[in-house]
Amino acid sequence: MKKPNIVVVGSVNMDLVTGVKQLPQAGETRMGDSFATFHGGKGANQAVACARLGASVHMIGCVGQDAFGEAAVQNMERQGVHTSHISRLPKQSTGVATILLEEGGENRIIVVPGANHGMTPAHIQTAAGVIRQADIVLMQLEIPLDSVRAAMDLAYQHGVSVILNPAPAVSLSKEDLARISLLTPNQHELPIVIPQAAEQSLLDYPGKIVMTKGKDGVSYAQDGIIQHQPGFTVEAVDTTGAGDTFNGALAVMLARGAALPEAIMYANAAAALSITKHGAQSGMPTDREVQLLLH
Ligand code: ATP
Repeated sequence: MKKPNIVVVGSVNMDLVTGVKQLPQAGETRMGDSFATFHGGKGANQAVACARLGASVHMIGCVGQDAFGEAAVQNMERQGVHTSHISRLPKQSTGVATILLEEGGENRIIVVPGANHGMTPAHIQTAAGVIRQADIVLMQLEIPLDSVRAAMDLAYQHGVSVILNPAPAVSLSKEDLARISLLTPNQHELPIVIPQAAEQSLLDYPGKIVMTKGKDGVSYAQDGIIQHQPGFTVEAVDTTGAGDTFNGALAVMLARGAALPEAIMYANAAAALSITKHGAQSGMPTDREVQLLLH
């Protein structure tokens, strides 16, 4: 089977997680119990998901000229992602999410997009060669919309399919939707992306929207009716990154030439496996692990 060739255009983040018995009040200092860093950013997560499943992956993204950026690029290289189109921007920090996690599960999160928001259409142009040769360009919305649109236009001009995971959600124009081969919102995002009832959007764009619904799997429309594919039943340990694994797996299967229902089945299985382990990226399965669950 041909190795799928996927380009991911998106964010690269470092998640800084501090565990504490009780969150501090304003002006208060408290001793924490634990601290750990995790590689994240929807773009980087989806790139790693694709690479784990056996695809050739080029990441287009931006980090700062700092230790987190260096670590993030090294991490992606270790996972087999091609990183020559990750730019290191001067005077910008690598994207970080600072997460304060209270014992009972309550949290406070601050995201600083940093270099992710420094991505411009010029960065996309520099990577035009890899976009032209891709089977699929996979994107999210944690980078500026004009860069997403530049990549969409370029892919469209060269007949390359675009999968957009519209997170965080914004309203998209009809022109945007015309350039996208597949949109993968969750059930909260879809009514923001297309401001009408989700069911109506699925019916208006048959085969073009796959709406994810957590453990309930996905919905999409085919032959004038809404189809549902349930999720796989697993013991959930950490659902972070389920959506990113789903998107990566869907892209890999579609690039392999699978029909949409088959690709969804595979992506549901991959996402379910990812939540049986801690961490967004560390739980992402290999193709072999997904095949074992499916057969
Ligand atoms: P994330 O929490 O990563 O941002 P998301 O909101 O983008 O995820 P979800 O709809 O929560 O996306 O989940 C994406 C897919 O992951 C689902 O369609 C399903 O295949 C799988 N999934 C998520 N949660 C579960 C679960 N508890 N059990 C089985 N599969 C799950």
